[in-house]
Amino acid sequence: MEKCIFDQIVEGKIPSKKVWESDSVLAFWDISPVAPIHVLIIPKKHLQDLNSVTQNDKEILGDLMLAVPEVAKKLGVKDSGYRIIINNGEHAGQLVPHIHIHLLAGKNLGPKII
Ligand code: 5GP
Repeated sequence: MEKCIFDQIVEGKIPSKKVWESDSVLAFWDISPVAPIHVLIIPKKHLQDLNSVTQNDKEILGDLMLAVPEVAKKLGVKDSGYRIIINNGEHAGQLVPHIHIHLLAGKNLGPKII
């Protein structure tokens, strides 16, 4: 079975513009940005969505969240603020079956959905 797009990005088989990485997490620019800054933060391990994680994934999920302010700092938006979004499943419009956090910033992001 072919690996998902983000697995192939982690492996370097599909190129990406890397922003930040650790042993377990990779952040790279979204190919189709919806804000001046639009970066995807993903676990290097393939995790399809939040429904498929288990207690065994606690450490990686912690790493993923802890990466967010590190990435924001690297992008220079830690203090000005940023929005993070996880689309999970069909009704949320999740297109890539690999958990990813969208980090949006670089302007006033306007009305909140919630
Ligand atoms: P989703 O809709 O699953 O929450 O978000 C998937 C995101 O991945 C989209 O914002 C889309 O632009 C981005 N994306 C899809 N394919 C690629 C790719 O090959 N490279 C990069 N950098 N981003 C991608």
